[in-house]
Amino acid sequence: MSAVALTNVRVFDGVKLGDPTTVGVDGGLITAATKHAERVDCHGAALLPGLIDTHVHVTEVAHLRVAARWGVTTMLDMGCWDAGIPGKLKGLPGLPDVRIAGNLANAPGSHFVKHMGFGPSSTVTGPQDATRFVADRVAEGSDYIKIAVEDPKIPGTKALSPETVTAVVEAAHTAGLLTIAHVVSADTLTVAIRAGADIVTHTALTSELDAEFEALLARRQVVIVPTLTMMDGVVRNIGGKLIMRVLGTVIPGMRMRYDHATATVATFRKAGMTVLVGTDSNDNVKTPAQVPYGESIHEELHRLVAAGLSPAEALRGATSAAAGTFGLSDRGVIAPGRRADLLLVGGDPTVDIAATRDIRGVWIGGTRVR
Ligand SMILES: [Zn+2]
Repeated sequence: MSAVALTNVRVFDGVKLGDPTTVGVDGGLITAATKHAERVDCHGAALLPGLIDTHVHVTEVAHLRVAARWGVTTMLDMGCWDAGIPGKLKGLPGLPDVRIAGNLANAPGSHFVKHMGFGPSSTVTGPQDATRFVADRVAEGSDYIKIAVEDPKIPGTKALSPETVTAVVEAAHTAGLLTIAHVVSADTLTVAIRAGADIVTHTALTSELDAEFEALLARRQVVIVPTLTMMDGVVRNIGGKLIMRVLGTVIPGMRMRYDHATATVATFRKAGMTVLVGTDSNDNVKTPAQVPYGESIHEELHRLVAAGLSPAEALRGATSAAAGTFGLSDRGVIAPGRRADLLLVGGDPTVDIAATRDIRGVWIGGTRVR
């Protein structure tokens, strides 16, 4: 890997693009440009840190290859019935850097067990079982702990009790791991936040968040990964089913609406919470919607801006804020000594977020993606 000097680039500093400058890449890291480096004229294009997708499900190298071409340089897997499947995708040179949750904590008899292949080790029988669950994940190499907080009011749903969710969060924190709670509604958001989850993923869909929820949020620090692209898929594929439309007219709070998802983003933003970019990319036909790898991160950026984030805020949610939340201190900003994970795009994405789709080059750990 020879040294490269990217000349005439406008670097995204987390807020805006700077004046044209030169950025060096050597030994997989960002460096000051050296004289012997091969010079690549970038004609004033915007240089962003490589994008971090904070919610994916990857099972094959092909998923990583596609994502790389779209500028995704880190992929955080948010749950698999076999930690070894995404685990084998870790550390592949020239491909997005993968981190894994492994098994997600779920209730005995849940749909994860019944329909998605999760084994007995993934179920948490009660608060007394939380330490065992986390120890199993540590043994399997999980980088963080994912917890499915389901809503027992939805017919046929088996949910962890709030006490069990709290116990899993505490056991994870004792082990030094972050917790990410899968939530599906205002009630489950409340359970997850009261339990002390560090991150919540997905949004309310069936109701708005009320003043009581806003008061809870004012007392807590929690990061949200809304996965708006997936939420739109859920509303279309599940909310649109006849049974759900009938339930929605009969039972208040059962009607799924995408504008509840965007309102969730607005509520968290207003409370000063960090909003991260995660797509829920997957190609599993057993999930509510299949979200394409790579391309969907640009869709998610667009949707977050439509939901009220500034373009720079949305970009931070896929770069510096994502890295900061997950403790990936070697990436997320363009500075000497950081990983050379880079995305070169035309136009100014801090003005028009669609510019991230105008991809001129991607580097992962200093290797250019071809
Ligand atoms: Zn997911």
